[in-house]
Amino acid sequence: NISLLKQLKDVEPITTDGTAIILSGNISNADDLDDVFDYGGQGVGLMRTELLFMNRNSFPTENEQFDFYKKTALKAKGKPVIVRTIDIGGDKQLAYFNLPVEENPFLGYRAIRICLDRTDLFITQLKAILRASIFGDLKIMFPMIASIQEVRQAKTILQQAKEELAQAGQAFNDAIEIGIMIEIPSAAITADLLATEVDFFSIGTNDLCQYTLAVDRMNEKISHLYDPFNPGVLRLIDNVISQANKNNIHVGMCGELASDPLATLLLMGMGLKDFSMSASSIPAIKQIIINNNLSKAKEIYNAVLAMDNSADILNYLQHTI
Ligand code: PEP
Ligand code: MG
Repeated sequence: NISLLKQLKDVEPITTDGTAIILSGNISNADDLDDVFDYGGQGVGLMRTELLFMNRNSFPTENEQFDFYKKTALKAKGKPVIVRTIDIGGDKQLAYFNLPVEENPFLGYRAIRICLDRTDLFITQLKAILRASIFGDLKIMFPMIASIQEVRQAKTILQQAKEELAQAGQAFNDAIEIGIMIEIPSAAITADLLATEVDFFSIGTNDLCQYTLAVDRMNEKISHLYDPFNPGVLRLIDNVISQANKNNIHVGMCGELASDPLATLLLMGMGLKDFSMSASSIPAIKQIIINNNLSKAKEIYNAVLAMDNSADILNYLQHTI
């Protein structure tokens, strides 16, 4: 019941034993923030920037991008906004950017790989985000990270962007937080290593599930095999959360699993305290949080991690929640 759930808008997402959870929204532009705040979201866990690059004939200039990010920062009124650098390629193509036709676009030239190759495009976006960062609490997130070298390269280019702005006398938040998407299995497995390079992780279960199970997320013929409750996927997620917590960096989840009511307590049992989703999903997840406690979450976690298949896991979760 949507109107009833909207009444939860000003209720804090705290469990019955006092654990505070963060619920934020996934957005594509500043206007999406209206819904996030209407549904009680506390900020933005994922701002996809692809929309800014789509439906036009050329790349947006630094100033066009700056306006876009600044508008979002101002509208967020001091609440955190994680801005993800461009994630084109794969399922997200640009008409004016003549990317080569590839046999395996999901395994190809995309996202951070393009940015580390076309550093001109990357620096332009980074400068625009940096300049907007003085108008709110913006954070930068890199998508499709597979290795620690990519993180280091991206940070080097970010440093260069900062130096160029400083030389030009332009203001930016020098302490802007840097995070990465964990959505490739190698990143999930090496979360302990990656945690030393960044301020936060955000788990992208959409791609993590696709790559872990080798199931194309767009292919309807095999959609029944696309299964985030597969024990292999769950173990990777568990590793990412525990390594982030062990290394004292922040960890959130912005993939679709974050909005699945069947997964909420399981993920909390793993130690996840930050969920980002489409705005309309926030109330239902909040309702689960305010009616449960961490010991139940731990109990669910222990039971699920002892199971060897997702049918049993789903059956158990459906009867427990
Ligand atoms: C993900 O992969 O889980 C994710 C949040 O990013 P996108 O859906 O934009 O690939
Ligand atoms: Mg992704």
